[in-house]
Amino acid sequence: MIKNVGIVGAGQMGCGIAQVAAMAGYKVHLYDIAPDRIEAGLATINGNMARQVSSGKLTEDERKKALTLIKGSSDLTDLSPADLVIEAATEDESIKRKIYVAVCPVLKPDAILATNTSSLSITRLASATDRPERFMGIHFMNPVPVMKLVELVRGIATEEGTFASARQFVTALDKTITVAEDFPAFIVNRILLPMINEAIYTLYEGVGTVDAIDTAMKLGANHPMGPLQLADFIGLDTCLSIMQVLHDGLADSKYRPCPLLVKYVEAGWLGRKSGRGFYDYRGETPVPTR
Ligand code: NAD
Repeated sequence: MIKNVGIVGAGQMGCGIAQVAAMAGYKVHLYDIAPDRIEAGLATINGNMARQVSSGKLTEDERKKALTLIKGSSDLTDLSPADLVIEAATEDESIKRKIYVAVCPVLKPDAILATNTSSLSITRLASATDRPERFMGIHFMNPVPVMKLVELVRGIATEEGTFASARQFVTALDKTITVAEDFPAFIVNRILLPMINEAIYTLYEGVGTVDAIDTAMKLGANHPMGPLQLADFIGLDTCLSIMQVLHDGLADSKYRPCPLLVKYVEAGWLGRKSGRGFYDYRGETPVPTR
């Protein structure tokens, strides 16, 4: 029975997962290697919940109760009471592997370790843990409090009990589950990221401006957000990592990351989270950067 949840990585996703878990009554320890991210994350969660109170989606009592359930931590040993740890750190395999090596000795033997990876092989990540049978992918969508879907992904060694516990946990968060096999980028990002990458090629080749491409897809395909706006929202570093995983893992040139995406990431223009990407977010309203 899962009661205590540990989260590694207090970025956009880790904070969102912490918020929905606390709102469902779970005790949460939110760990990050960067203490300022924890502080910023707790402030974001507080702000999100305050907005939900203003719009009548949450009562003030529910907000206070949920906030008391989340503890920020810059000490990995605070995750020791966790029944489930969800790793939501940077989409970089070597970072994730190092985290598992550090966190596994802290965990209870029967604790489940899950990853929120968008694209990496669950089986390969599991091999860096001491518990491949109690390891799997629990892939939330961004923003976590809003998006209904969670992809569940088994590795080759994932035991049925692990899968059943994850299913129960995700259901308690009032999310809808879809099960994906352990192939690069699973279902949602296998389809979504090549579309975003193609939008970036469309910009790179001068077929349209940022504004033209986003307007075209919003009004011409009825997408709620343009693909470049969505790329900024996901984070361009994350988009690039996913394209690289698709390209390497499926060895098909159709997944080649657009050189313009590489250039933006090299510039540190990572989208909303860094203040600039395909749009510049530093002013009142986002301004296209091309
Ligand atoms: P982010 O850049 O907002 O946050 C990553 C966090 O990980 C940062 O706070 C960073 O300090 C922390 N971190 C880095 N190294 C660490 C370490 N060794 N120990 C602890 N913390 C560490 O990224 P994000 O968008 O929240 O993505 C996190 C994960 O979620 C990635 O695996 C990503 O693929 C996945 N994901 C992202 C999205 C999305 O739309 N952004 C959607 C679904 C899944």
